[in-house]
Amino acid sequence: MCSRCNADCNTMVKNATGSKRHMRVVRSLPSLRRAIADFKMRRRTIALVPTMGALHGGHLALVRLARRRADRVVVSIFVNPTQFAPNEDLQSYPRTFATDIAALAAAKVDLVWAPTAGVMYPDGFATRVVPEGPATAGLEDASRPHFFAGVATVVAKLLIQCEPDFAVFGEKDYQQLKVVTRLARDLALQSRIVGAPIVREADGLAMSSRNRYLSPGEREAAPMLYRVLKDCAGKIASGRPIAAVLDEGRTAIAHAGFAVDYFEARHATTLASVASAKNCPIRLLVAARIGKTRLIDNLAV
Ligand code: AMP
Repeated sequence: MCSRCNADCNTMVKNATGSKRHMRVVRSLPSLRRAIADFKMRRRTIALVPTMGALHGGHLALVRLARRRADRVVVSIFVNPTQFAPNEDLQSYPRTFATDIAALAAAKVDLVWAPTAGVMYPDGFATRVVPEGPATAGLEDASRPHFFAGVATVVAKLLIQCEPDFAVFGEKDYQQLKVVTRLARDLALQSRIVGAPIVREADGLAMSSRNRYLSPGEREAAPMLYRVLKDCAGKIASGRPIAAVLDEGRTAIAHAGFAVDYFEARHATTLASVASAKNCPIRLLVAARIGKTRLIDNLAV
């Protein structure tokens, strides 16, 4: 037990300048509750950044946004088993806990919530949140039917556990952002959901924990997704018919060696299909597999 934070913290972490900074890392619910109660008692505003770890620049941009807007920043690290199908990459999903902790300490995070699967889903766990609306838009849900119930259940739990004033989610997972926004409203949770822009590598590839699966050849081909998104967004904005532009885009992506799960133009808020760009904010969304890796990306028109 740490005498400073009254939790099962083990962390006096050196930050980038070498000076020591106190960051709590808690793994049990009573410790989390004590830490959150302490923030609330001191009337500190709280931001939550949910992650599955294997942190990169995209996650750290979310943390910086949270840091700018809240007194206390909580980052959760939990590779959520219920959002993976049996044939997906739960076992091989990258886990880099020690590096993650160092990066979060350097980013001046106050509290890391790192529960085990047993803490999140204790024996007898029998309650799921099954979202509809944006969760059934025919995008990620078409390829991953199990996915949004897993996400919604764990996000609902994280929001209830951490009681943040707001939680930050990346536009990288655009449909997820819409699902979580809907969920917070529908369940009358007190937390606001804040979206953060996509962070990209210099060549345009959206940062992702799964990019490390790419072979050198696949990594070279991967920025094609963003190039096609940009090209198609420009064509739609200039008035070309959406269906024809999407067909061209799908062909270009397939030509670069991807198997396309979807490449769609949707209403940016409702995710409904759109036939014309007139008076309608449009988001292009793509999911495609290269080798064993499935990449997703999106762009506003
Ligand atoms: P993950 O660890 O992949 O579940 O992602 C945790 C959060 O980081 C989610 O809200 C993601 O949308 C967000 N995120 C992941 N990659 C990026 C990125 N390249 N830019 C912005 N946000 C991201």
